[in-house]
Amino acid sequence: MSTESGLPDFRSINGIYKTLTTALTFNIRLFRIWPRQFYKVIGPFYKDCVSAEPNAGHLALAELERQGKIVEIATQNVDCLHQKAGSSIVHEIHGTIATMTCMKCGEKSQASDYADMFSNGKVPHCSHCGGVLKPDLTFFGEELPSEPLRKAKLAFLDADLVIVLGTSLKVAPANTLPGYRVKGTPMFIINHDPTQYDEYADFVSHEKIGEILPQLVGMA
Ligand SMILES: [Zn+2]
Repeated sequence: MSTESGLPDFRSINGIYKTLTTALTFNIRLFRIWPRQFYKVIGPFYKDCVSAEPNAGHLALAELERQGKIVEIATQNVDCLHQKAGSSIVHEIHGTIATMTCMKCGEKSQASDYADMFSNGKVPHCSHCGGVLKPDLTFFGEELPSEPLRKAKLAFLDADLVIVLGTSLKVAPANTLPGYRVKGTPMFIINHDPTQYDEYADFVSHEKIGEILPQLVGMA
């Protein structure tokens, strides 16, 4: 979804696990003892995320909501671009980059307040106690936030239509969500590459989301 906004994904050939870092960078144990390695590598990229703009795909989902549909978005993305586009119900299964939590006192901070530090790769510290701030995205070795996943499952159970967008459906638990839809609920899949669920879908496209989704919602 967000690659069309110029943000790299994690696992594809151009993903940040191949170009910038490895999955180890997002390991919570490593972060606890050595936060500097995380911010040194990720900081400048983090600033790009915080300042990225939604693309035609994000805007098409927001348009669907403006047309009067109830649109619930369950996403593995952490970049807040759906909210920036105007979507009001977003279940962030892997957390968000928008806020940060102090590792010492638990105080929350807005990531945008630290944008300059990110671009320099510096470690941001809590304004109350001086503890290290950790982004509220889920690291390896951490539990996923339970509430977004619970709400996402309910949304799938309740859906009249399921649209799977821009995911290889290889990462649990997000890839289990289509299985929560009630039997007979139509499912569309729009993804660059084929997925294991394609054969169960009512409509499959490998075109760009930003090209086909605006057509589907009547914007183009
Ligand atoms: Zn603190």
